[in-house]
Amino acid sequence: MRILLVEDEPDLGKAIKRTLTEHNYIVDWAQDGEEALSFLEMGSQQYTLGIFDWLLPKLLGIDLLKNIRQQNNPLPVLILTAKDREEDKVIGLDAGADDYLVKPFGMAELLARLRALQRRSPYINPQELTLGNITLDYGKYAIFYKKGKGNNQLIELTRKEFQLLEYFMKHSNQIVTRDQLLSQLWEWGNEPMSNVVAAQIRLLRQKLAPYGGENWIKTIYGLGYQFTVDNQN
Ligand code: CA
Repeated sequence: MRILLVEDEPDLGKAIKRTLTEHNYIVDWAQDGEEALSFLEMGSQQYTLGIFDWLLPKLLGIDLLKNIRQQNNPLPVLILTAKDREEDKVIGLDAGADDYLVKPFGMAELLARLRALQRRSPYINPQELTLGNITLDYGKYAIFYKKGKGNNQLIELTRKEFQLLEYFMKHSNQIVTRDQLLSQLWEWGNEPMSNVVAAQIRLLRQKLAPYGGENWIKTIYGLGYQFTVDNQN
């Protein structure tokens, strides 16, 4: 899941980004309102959630929010702010915020609020995504392999392997290009090496091999990759 974080305080931005990354979110961090707008306008990546600070250089978080709502963008947005007067909350909610968190706050509360927003997100409705014998459980944020009536086995994956498999599961049977994977799953700013996608896919194939999945991710030469799971038990 990809989050657009807009926060101009470097320490707080860094702390939020670190916490969210540890919880398997992919975070693009913009440090002012205009940068956030340019991230949104690039459009190649779809954000699941937004976290906007209220007081931002160049364009206030609240104006950024009004701007995207005028364009009918339904992105669920949580507003962060030191403002805790009731009338400010009303202004924030009326501008189209989905939730509101007053600084200072604890990371556990931020994560819980994001989970609640996710459940209401137009982009993520199912609690589970199952393909053949593998199931992504959004509650546990884990991927399981199920064989017959036996117990579910957790597939142990690194964060990037997990994100890659989640993306493939959501786009199964489609041809997914390398650029698509780069723009969806890698953050802006740290340009990855050109072979990073191929390397990650090689690792993921090795992890899936014990479950009969060595051929689930096919390389389509000159185009990209295609993920297909056999429907068998
Ligand atoms: Ca600020």
